[in-house]
Amino acid sequence: MRRFFIEESKVTGPIISITGSDAAHIKKVLRMKPGDRIGLFDGRGFEYEARIENLTAKSVEVSIARRFLSASESPAQIIVAQALLKDKKMDTLVRQLTEIGVARLIPFTSIRSVPIPDQKRLSARRKRLEKIAIEALKQCRRGHVTEIVETVTFNDAIKMDDECDLKIVFWENESKPISDAIQHIHDRHYRKILAVLGPEGGFTEKEIEYARACGFVTASLGPRILRAETAAIAACTILQYLFGDMGLKKS
Ligand code: SAH
Repeated sequence: MRRFFIEESKVTGPIISITGSDAAHIKKVLRMKPGDRIGLFDGRGFEYEARIENLTAKSVEVSIARRFLSASESPAQIIVAQALLKDKKMDTLVRQLTEIGVARLIPFTSIRSVPIPDQKRLSARRKRLEKIAIEALKQCRRGHVTEIVETVTFNDAIKMDDECDLKIVFWENESKPISDAIQHIHDRHYRKILAVLGPEGGFTEKEIEYARACGFVTASLGPRILRAETAAIAACTILQYLFGDMGLKKS
């Protein structure tokens, strides 16, 4: 069944009006007719099965047949704290993290991160990243949008999600892989994970010491130094494989 994104605010009653490019696509490309069924998802965790009732010049009206919780969300809630990178890299990162199923992105400033933009620029950047996350959500048909939080300092990012089951820093100077950093990796069910990744310039020893003092383990991503944006994707893929919904069938 074809699925379309619908803003949560539009789901107000039993009949919903789809407008814009999705309506045009349904009519002109898919040539759907009254009685045909489509799927809708709202990016807030709900999906809908809908029936086309009426096609007008500007909209497609559908009735909701069924509402259910999205099945495309991972059982692992992966939160990524990423040191600020250049704008374009952050854009790409948000798109890719959304596809991999990351729940939240915490951008942070650190000793070696790119110069800190002023507050106005930071909030404009955040809005832009939120838009990119929604676009990526539509494309990958995910149930829940990746939340983008305000840029904070490294120290605040480290302390932000204290009730995580696993707190891990991927550190370029670490030689232990994640399977050594966490004991009995396959027996443990980590449901909420905070993964911290550094800037192009890497972490300082002091930052790592601080993270360890706050209960973080450190892990390597292998013998090669990855670019920051590659490292974030590799780390999240590993976490989604070990604890979430990529690659392994969970009983
Ligand atoms: N400038 C540093 C590399 C920083 S890479 C150097 O030359 O040593 C940017 C970030 O990606 C790192 O802070 C880390 O979080 C992550 N990263 C890259 N390669 C990694 C690896 N092999 N193991 C763990 N983390 C890695």
